[in-house]
Amino acid sequence: MSTNPTFAPILSTVDLHKCYRKGAIEVPVLNGANLSVSEGEMVSIIGQSGSGKSTLLHLMGTLDQPDSGEIHFQGNRIDNLTAAGRDVLRNRYIGLIFQFYHLLPELTTIENVLAPMMIRHSVWGYWANRRKYRERAKELLETVGLSHRLNHKPRELSGGEMQRTAIARALISEPILLLADEPTGNLDRQTGEEILTVLRRLNDERQLTIVMVTHDPSIAAGADRTIQLVEGRVKTSNQAAA
Ligand code: ADP
Ligand code: MG
Repeated sequence: MSTNPTFAPILSTVDLHKCYRKGAIEVPVLNGANLSVSEGEMVSIIGQSGSGKSTLLHLMGTLDQPDSGEIHFQGNRIDNLTAAGRDVLRNRYIGLIFQFYHLLPELTTIENVLAPMMIRHSVWGYWANRRKYRERAKELLETVGLSHRLNHKPRELSGGEMQRTAIARALISEPILLLADEPTGNLDRQTGEEILTVLRRLNDERQLTIVMVTHDPSIAAGADRTIQLVEGRVKTSNQAAA
């Protein structure tokens, strides 16, 4: 293993194949996707609609399994984990955000952010640490610029505010990798840029590794590096060269 943490891959995929079955027809989506993400990097994955971006991200987040190929996270294979292993991974090490936020409508902003900690711990375990978790949730909501919306319900928030809440919720368990599927896809341009700025800052200031899927080239350009998905394979290019 490399001794230089800058170049240590935190996440890599090896020859990933995935197809979906539509009736009798098999629809190939990934045809040998290889990529590697270094610790502390912010990478965007771009490709046309239907090119398999979400499929790839879901595989990396262990929400689905490849037909063949391997996925390595911190040197360990994660494509063949048990359900319990996948839960631990997503509860502690990998944060996920999506285009449509997926907040719980009956919970306030701060309760939504705390929800993963309630799920992770027993009632007693959560109760015993609730002050610490609330402090962490407030700090995160401050980081994403939502200190003034702690007790609002999702329906009282704008799209950008809902995505900020979802980002804080993804970070409450202090993950080392954030996977984002079209995080600005449902937002107007300016609000999308603001969300990109939040993600950029999390990467710059906390060295959080981020993999962000987007169909929007100007959002993708905000990352350190862009990976293009074409016909189920990746084409890599440096931002500077683009
Ligand atoms: P993207 O995120 O790049 O728009 P997706 O990964 O969502 O692309 O989808 C890639 C292709 O796989 C599309 O043709 C889509 O219709 C198909 N697909 C995605 N999910 C499923 C599924 N659960 N069942 C069948 N086909 C699917
Ligand atoms: Mg998608």
